Amino acid sequence: MTKGTINVSVENIFPLIKKFLYSDHEIFLRELISNATDATLKLKHLTNVGEAKVEYGNPKIEVKIDKKGKKLHIIDQGIGMTAEEVEKYINEVAFSGAEEFLDKYKDAAKDSGIIGHFGLGFYSSFMVAEKVEIITKSFKDEPAAHWTCDGSPEFSLEEADKKERGTEVILHIDKDSTEFLEESRIRELLLKYNKFMPIPIKFGTKEINDPDHEPQTIKDKDGKETKEPHRKITVDNIINNPNPAWTKQPTDLKDEDYNNFYRELYPMQFEEPLFHIHLNVDYPFNLTGILYFPRLTNDMQIQKDKIQLYQNQVFITDNVEGIVPEFLTMLRGVIDSPDIPLNVSRSYLQADGAVKKISSYITRKVADKLKSLFKDNREDFEKKWNDIKIVIEYGMLTEDKFFEKSDAFFLYPTVDKKYFTYDELYNKIKANQTDKDDKLIILYASDTQAQHSYIEAAKAKNYEVLLLDSPIVSHLIQKLESSKENVSFVRVDSDHVDNLIKKDDNTISKLDDDQKKSLNELLNEVIPAEKFTVQLEAMDSNAAPFIITQPEFMRRMKEMQQTGGGGMFGMGNMPEMYNLVVNTNHELVSQILNTKTRKKQERLINQSLDLARLSQGLLKGEELTNFVKRSYEMIK
Ligand code: ADP
Repeated sequence: MTKGTINVSVENIFPLIKKFLYSDHEIFLRELISNATDATLKLKHLTNVGEAKVEYGNPKIEVKIDKKGKKLHIIDQGIGMTAEEVEKYINEVAFSGAEEFLDKYKDAAKDSGIIGHFGLGFYSSFMVAEKVEIITKSFKDEPAAHWTCDGSPEFSLEEADKKERGTEVILHIDKDSTEFLEESRIRELLLKYNKFMPIPIKFGTKEINDPDHEPQTIKDKDGKETKEPHRKITVDNIINNPNPAWTKQPTDLKDEDYNNFYRELYPMQFEEPLFHIHLNVDYPFNLTGILYFPRLTNDMQIQKDKIQLYQNQVFITDNVEGIVPEFLTMLRGVIDSPDIPLNVSRSYLQADGAVKKISSYITRKVADKLKSLFKDNREDFEKKWNDIKIVIEYGMLTEDKFFEKSDAFFLYPTVDKKYFTYDELYNKIKANQTDKDDKLIILYASDTQAQHSYIEAAKAKNYEVLLLDSPIVSHLIQKLESSKENVSFVRVDSDHVDNLIKKDDNTISKLDDDQKKSLNELLNEVIPAEKFTVQLEAMDSNAAPFIITQPEFMRRMKEMQQTGGGGMFGMGNMPEMYNLVVNTNHELVSQILNTKTRKKQERLINQSLDLARLSQGLLKGEELTNFVKRSYEMIK
């Protein structure tokens, strides 16, 4: 037996690592199983190319708990190591890797929120073990080796009598890590990190019905027929699916396979995803994956089923912020790429060229898929629109490349549930909705109930009214207006209908200038100026006499500020501003003017104002009570 000292410059790095990575101790298992997987895949490669003249067989990795002995075993049937290789790979590579890690960590720690997913490798076993043994037999014809180390730079190495090829790592679990001797904890970790690793992982055994035994129907002594019970057999409990859907070719998968995989990823999700996007690139970087559009519920904060990031089928994290564009973090699924650097901080990640490329590739791919979904099955796409629009709108706002592509699939729904692309909408409304300054006016509503009367008035003029009701729509409109030429979005309640789209035809006013002047004075005396700006308009005599409107610009700025940034500074706290449009051609308005007593005039004005407020949903509380009272008196 040899004893030796590992040559490390950082004296006793182990306590340091233990301290630094406190919260992430559990990753040791992932690291050891990754090593076991690598060792097995290496053997596969060597047998394939004829360099290893051994039978590859059906190797598996076994994880075994020895609760009494306080040990955890990780056993593989991979290439194994000779004593010389243990010296080289474990004493040198593994330890220097740990050193390097510490160096990197020190820098990264300055940045906020380092990713706790370093490839610390074999050495991470010392985070949970007071002593680690390796018993390993190389595929080469050499004796097995037995290495022991307690994390200090001292180790021992001796010959062992292990006969089967492969490596067994034995962790003597530390007294403050006994959780890792619990079956449930290990199962949880295996399912979290290794659920899709490429080599079968055995964790205990289980009983199943013997597939080679068909239960027979037997007759008891009374002649009654019963089926005999299934014969049980004990088999390995394999914890993982070594061939997850994303590693397969899209042509080999049906919709059903994608849906089944969704369920495998999120066993607690009962809703089917709306659609999926299979990602597959090998140049200039490697990336595979499947993204799903879920039906988004209103409470998006309860979204704990997130996109999972893998590296070669090893789970890394479900915090993909910085790797995937923000708007796509609302999706679900997996991304697998060995090219995403993980041993750096998040802020570094966002500036990293490779990550940027990956992020823009995913964005492009999602846009292309949306386009083809729309082209291939428009009806279905329209049906799903309400569930996916938020993601798309958010993407248009935050990713310019996505915005550019969005014209091909972004839909403008009308209040009558028709759906137009921008081009279709443009052609439909161009003739009727271009104003005298040659500007195209796109009318929209945000609430079909609350804005009912305005929508009806617009429809009476054969205008097309869109229904844009997302919380971020004011931002989107702002962006659309600045990117499309000569287009304005105007909400139907932002002015009276003749003013929404200003055309040259002037209506003649029934009132002369003197009458208008005295009407204006009267209204301004009765109506509180801090709430309403009075605006006299000569409209169709059949249009409503009093209409409350809210100017588009002010309202939109206010909304933008309320939904985060964008709008004009300080607008969020401004009181609501309304206009009171008075139709001077309406009979009631002449009547108000001609009524003899001031008291009666005021009553008519207040009643009309309240009716206008009522139709905007603005009459509430005491004012509503007074209105109802006054109305009863008037019909008495
Ligand atoms: P990394 O896996 O990143 O190279 P590790 O510290 O995990 O770093 O391992 C160091 C080296 O030890 C590996 O590169 C490999 O050569 C060897 N090794 C570790 N575990 C095994 C194993 N189960 N079977 C064979 N070789 C192994």
